[in-house]
Amino acid sequence: MSRSSKMYKQACKVMPGGVSSPVRAFQSVGREPLFISSGKGAYIEDADGRRYIDYVMSWGPLILGHAREEVVSAVTKAVSRGLSFGAPTGAETELAEEIAAATGAEMVRFVNSGTEACMSAVRLARGYTGRDKIVKFEGCYHGHSDGLLVKAGSGCLTGGLPDSAGVPAAYAGETLVARYNDADSVRALFAANAGKIACVIVEPVAANMGVIPPAEGFLEALRAICDREGALLVFDEVITGFRVAYGGAAALYPGTPDLFAFGKILGRGMPLAAYAGRREIMRFVAPVGKVYQAGTLSGNPAATAAGLATLRILREGKDALDPALDRAGEKLAAAYRAAGVSVNRVGSLLTPFFAKNAPSCYEEVKKCDLALFSRYFSRMLEAGIYVAPSQFEGMFVSAAHSEEDIAKTCKAAANACEGLAEMIQ
Ligand SMILES: *Cc1c(COP(=O)(O)O)cnc(C)c1O
Repeated sequence: MSRSSKMYKQACKVMPGGVSSPVRAFQSVGREPLFISSGKGAYIEDADGRRYIDYVMSWGPLILGHAREEVVSAVTKAVSRGLSFGAPTGAETELAEEIAAATGAEMVRFVNSGTEACMSAVRLARGYTGRDKIVKFEGCYHGHSDGLLVKAGSGCLTGGLPDSAGVPAAYAGETLVARYNDADSVRALFAANAGKIACVIVEPVAANMGVIPPAEGFLEALRAICDREGALLVFDEVITGFRVAYGGAAALYPGTPDLFAFGKILGRGMPLAAYAGRREIMRFVAPVGKVYQAGTLSGNPAATAAGLATLRILREGKDALDPALDRAGEKLAAAYRAAGVSVNRVGSLLTPFFAKNAPSCYEEVKKCDLALFSRYFSRMLEAGIYVAPSQFEGMFVSAAHSEEDIAKTCKAAANACEGLAEMIQ
């Protein structure tokens, strides 16, 4: 028995499913998870000493690859000065300034996870507008807080959990669900709930039902609807922030949001996230305003150091880095297309879909052949390529993936898709 397998069985005795987060369990591809012992650059090594080119990249944060020296050294320095003070530090202000300069958000509040960032942004939108209902999109994932775990993506799509047990119907009832890339479905919800909707929360590029880019005009239409109805527009940029462009999706597409949620790359593998937005709205957050939100470890010094080091590298290198990531993403996409698999891609974020056509909403995503995906996944793993164990996730290319790594992956992808693409119905 492999060491991973032993460790998994041991873990299952004391942890539900042996994991700290559901998709890690490999359940949807019918395998046992690999236990990872280390990572460097584009590579990870598992407990059995096997190396893989990694495209999970901690589910998005590692845009500079594993254990990037400048970041590790910034964190080490911060840790040696103390892990946490529960008091403000100068580095938080510096990081808030970096976020503001990159995205146009005027004020920032730090939290510990993307879940918290989205949950708090929604609370703020409710506090600011004095309205209770919110609109989200089918297949978009905004973390696991009660009101947002309705028709959510990510693990909810593969885990056979359309929604979660334990969410009171009364909470879920305040969440109205629209169709991604369908502004008319949003207009209909506003028409039926006039004056009651606080905000529309959206992944500006959906990445938790596989990658689905916004259709032309979709985000602008959301902006216009929110303006007309007095509701706020919230971009959940937990995945897209600092990835699809240094300034995130808001820099790439028209349709400026009122509030943002950031995470993943922001903490670069440390628990750090933020919500941010227009000053006039952010002034509703305590202690200045009446929307309460707090956190013992929020703005943690070690996590802040990781974020600051990462954002500086990204900002200084963005003119070379953004195009390089885009080229690498396109090479991979081209390899999948050549192998007969459809692809959606925005920059370094892509998903090959085992479907005839690349989907544009959740309904179309559901048509993918998950059995074919599982076979493809296993072949990739055997070839030393670690992609997300689910059709409904993205592949994350990092600055650490060399041309050689990409070329090797393209070849492996062609082999892994052989004989499968023809079976797509
Ligand atoms: C990952 C993710 C979240 C949740 O972030 P956590 O840090 O896992 O709580 C929220 N929104 C989007 C778009 C995400 O991809």
